[in-house]
Amino acid sequence: MANKINLSADVIIVGSGPGGATVAKYLADSGKKILLFERGRDHRNKWYYGTYPGAMLYSEKMSLLFTKEGLNIIAPNMLGGATSMFAGCAAPPPSWLKDKYGLDLDKEVAETVQQLNIQPLAEKFRGKASTRIAESAGKLGYDWYAQPKFMTPARTKKGEHQFKCGASCMLGCACGAKWNAAEWVDDAVASQVNLRTRANISKVLIQNGTVTGVEGHLQGKKFTAEADTVILSAGGLGSPRILQRSGFKDAGVGMTMDTTVMVYGFTKYSGTGMEPPMTWSWENDDAGYMLSTLTDPWLLYPLVAIRKGIGPAIRWLQWHKMLGIMIKLKDDVAGGVFPDGSISKPLTKGDEESLKHAENICHKILLEAGAKKETIFMTPQRGTHPSGTVRVGELLDKNLQTSIKGLYVCDASVFPESLDRPTVLTIIGLGKRLAKHLLAMD
Ligand SMILES: Cc1cc2nc3c(=O)[nH]c(=O)nc-3n(C[C@H](O)[C@H](O)[C@H](O)COP(=O)(O)OP(=O)(O)OC[C@H]3O[C@@H](n4cnc5c(N)ncnc54)[C@H](O)[C@@H]3O)c2cc1C
Repeated sequence: MANKINLSADVIIVGSGPGGATVAKYLADSGKKILLFERGRDHRNKWYYGTYPGAMLYSEKMSLLFTKEGLNIIAPNMLGGATSMFAGCAAPPPSWLKDKYGLDLDKEVAETVQQLNIQPLAEKFRGKASTRIAESAGKLGYDWYAQPKFMTPARTKKGEHQFKCGASCMLGCACGAKWNAAEWVDDAVASQVNLRTRANISKVLIQNGTVTGVEGHLQGKKFTAEADTVILSAGGLGSPRILQRSGFKDAGVGMTMDTTVMVYGFTKYSGTGMEPPMTWSWENDDAGYMLSTLTDPWLLYPLVAIRKGIGPAIRWLQWHKMLGIMIKLKDDVAGGVFPDGSISKPLTKGDEESLKHAENICHKILLEAGAKKETIFMTPQRGTHPSGTVRVGELLDKNLQTSIKGLYVCDASVFPESLDRPTVLTIIGLGKRLAKHLLAMD
């Protein structure tokens, strides 16, 4: 066909979030010809990176992506994937991933912790209000911990004293303190990985039970690329969509989301909004949720609060005096990502019980931390971790291979259950493990 581009490689990787970037970096020196396709662009050094218009520009549907139930999902569409907008938190994989599903990531994760200097922020950077929440929780018997971070204040462009990270750093880290998977793409490109941005992959090509390549649009033009190994790392929404278009009827049926809400309360003191996000956390594994300190960015707050009425919305004026606790639920596999483009994530009865439990605890902690009782409210649910849509044990084997030879998935979609904690360190562990597996097959 005229104008059709044809490319070829030994390995094709689709998506440049932590899954794709890790596999690309760790296969880069193998001598294999590698093509890395990313549908978005690299926005890191643009003036708008880290601003509100920027965040709309580089998120799917300009940040207005909703499930059928009304959960807002922020799905970044750019080099580095969601690590371009993440809160920089790191959590080791839950033990059940190894015990129940045989995914042992201990070595890969321990190595990454050293490599990226993952540790909690120094006390002086954790924020007064956030620390007050953690201390108040401690008085009530809930032992919060300083959250390990992919965040190194000394990396700030003009030095540590310029590190002024507030909630707005989730629009994109303009100061440079946070690690971003795009940095590992840079490393891969320096080792001859062929990166193509604005490359939207629509489907995988398969012949006689073996993968042969991918098809899509490269900068608006239709193209195909051939390879006998294809790794889908297009994220919890992107990978099932590609698989569905390639004939996998069960991809995207059921999903996890670590469904998230915020509980807010106003004080006379300074609030959590101007402080780095999620500096203190607590996990309640028995009841199935995680709590962490966080306030929505200033301009986002009224859009979230108005859905709870005029009272919460009007407190926008006192945003800087607001205390925020985020709840992340270990939600059940439910709903899904469907071929018509819709997404559904209903709460099950069990999810509702966990949420009620978590809300009560947040209420108590906020009161103890000095919030006025009548101002405490919980926001509508949202989805920050679309995942569990191509689950290990169902659509993938332990090596992350599908039923098609040479076709792998490596991203948040492979989680067999809700992680209910920051995902990125686990995804990096999976990416390193998959790269080792592929190299061992040579
Ligand atoms: C606001 C926010 C805060 C968060 N905070 C944290 C945190 O503090 N710690 C943590 O661990 N996690 C956090 N997360 C979650 C975490 O960032 C994601 O779970 C993680 O990045 C998922 O990695 P991934 O590799 O699965 O995919 P993604 O990061 O989603 O990357 C997928 C990539 O694939 C590309 N893509 C999609 N479809 C196609 C296609 N058809 N063709 C080509 N390319 C395609 C996308 O553009 C994207 O770049 C946060 C998420 C959000 C939204």
